[in-house]
This record gives sequence, C-alpha cells and structure tokens, in this order.
Amino acid sequence: MREFTFARAATVEDALDAPRGAVFLAGGTTVVDLMKLDVLRPRVVVDINALPLREITVDGTGLTVASGVRMGDLATHAEVVRAFPLVVEALLAGASQQIRNMASIGGNLLQRTRCGYFRDVCSACNRRAPGSGCAAIDGANRTHAVLGTSPSCVATHPSDLAVALTALDATVRVTGHGGEREVPLREFYRVPGDTPRIENVLGAGELIIAVHVPHPPAEARTTYVKVRDRASYEFALSSAAVVIEARDNVIAGARIAVGGVATVPWRLPAVEAALIGLPATPGGFGDVVARAADGASALTQNGYKIPLLEHTVLRAIEEVFAR
Ligand code: SF4
Repeated sequence: MREFTFARAATVEDALDAPRGAVFLAGGTTVVDLMKLDVLRPRVVVDINALPLREITVDGTGLTVASGVRMGDLATHAEVVRAFPLVVEALLAGASQQIRNMASIGGNLLQRTRCGYFRDVCSACNRRAPGSGCAAIDGANRTHAVLGTSPSCVATHPSDLAVALTALDATVRVTGHGGEREVPLREFYRVPGDTPRIENVLGAGELIIAVHVPHPPAEARTTYVKVRDRASYEFALSSAAVVIEARDNVIAGARIAVGGVATVPWRLPAVEAALIGLPATPGGFGDVVARAADGASALTQNGYKIPLLEHTVLRAIEEVFAR
C-alpha cells in the first residue's frame, strides 16, 4: 500500500473541506481492499465514521437511512424488516455477516466493480486507467454484462442493495459545497459509454448523506432473487428485484430491476408494462419475460446470461405470487 495522509472528519462540513481527490472511508470494505491492490492510490483518506450519519427512520413517507448506517443494522431493524422486506432480502444476499457488520449503506452503493481486470493493475482497464483498453472484451468475460455495455467497458455493477432500491424508486440525498440535492437512484449511476471511469453523477467532493425509500403501495408484494455460482457469499450472475401491485387478482403495477447482467442497476420498463392487466396468479408469464433482455449483447463467454436473465425474472415474478 502506498503512503497517504489520514484525517478524521468530525462534521459533514469537515468532510466537504477535504482536499480534491481525497477518498472517504466508512466501513472500508471496498476502499481498503482496493488500496491494498494498488487500484486506489489516494493521497488523502478522510475517515467519516464520526459524522452523525447513523439514523434509520421509518415514517409515513417511507424509509430514510443515513449513509453511515451499517448493512447489518439496517437488515435487522424491526420496522425495516416489517415494512421493507425487499431491502432486507437484498442486504442479506449481498454480503456475509462479517461484511454486513462493517459495510456502510453509502459505501455499498458506491462499491466498485468486481471485474478481475479492474482489480489487477497489470491489465488494460479503461475504468481504472482511461485509454488503456478493456482486457475483458477479448478475455475472461463469463461474469460480465450484457446490458448497458460499450466498447470501452462491459463490467457489471456489483450491489444487490442498489438493485432492490432501484425497483423501489429510492432517491439518494447528496451534499456538497453547492448545497443538498436529491437524485433518483435510477439516474444516479452512469452507463460506461466512452468514460467508464465516471460511474455516477456525484460531483467532486460530494457526499451521499442518506437514502430515501418510499413505501411500496399497500397491495404490493415483493421479492429478490439472486442467482450465483455458489449459495454462500458470491456476487450475482443475475438477480431480479420485483415489486408487483395486484388489485382484484389483476396486476395493476409492476417495477422490476435486475442486477449481475448490466453495467448499472437496470429497470425493465417493457416487462413492467406488459405485466399490467395480467392475472395475478403464478404461471403464464413466459412471453412477458422474453422482453427482459431487450437490447442485450453477449460477449464470447457470457451468452448464457441472456436466458438466465429471463429465467431469473420469471422465477421472481412467480415467487411473488407463490408467497
Ligand atoms: Fe476495466 Fe470495464 Fe474492461 Fe473490466 S470491463 S477491464 S472494468 S474497462
């Protein structure tokens, strides 16, 4: 690990005064990892654990989680377990107990891709070293994305929680020297395009301070399905977060986001629209989920992800009605 200056911020204002290029440290489960690998080389690391960002609130507007809350604390909060089971399912699927004890909600949303070439400083990687190329396109790309890709980068976004929050229409509260702003999570992440290094819409020095999740409709049922190489701690090959609202046994609303297959948490508007008006009973969704992979493009080793995505969405929809 390279030398760096370590500082502690006592207030949000202290954190915002950090020098340009400083890295914020909360749980450290991504940042420390990447510093050890020499992928991140900050000159200044600012510990933000003393900031007053540990509150979880459930009220009439929904769930508000401060960004410093640990995954484990959110997953076991009684009101969250009762009113936001989709959030809890994604948290439990997203990390081991040890990681959940350390990792913050803000850090979870900002975690970096698991692409092996990104984490290997000897490999070409436009996301880590702009202009160096993308070793994955002609390399080991079995776990890479089929949606939202570009010739510059095909890496998947790794967060399970972000997929669930995208289906729940969550917003992120961000603060910076220009003041606070709310960003829908759906607009927070950027597909790689020509600039894969820019992963989200955070401005220089801006900090996520909270996430707000509105209550799903009272009639809504939810589930999170994650498919991975092994049942214990592993990143998704494909996942689906489903929120389906049924009235009088007819589907009246649907929100579906998928992970493990796209460069950002990915909503499926065509599938959502096609579900409206169908009977709210298990079975008969085969034609609808065929739209899940609209626009998908496979690499040399990840073509299996297209049918896997369709089956993951199908399983999630059927699980919702089987509950
Ligand atoms: Fe880097 Fe993206 Fe290519 Fe992976 S897929 S090597 S992160 S540019």
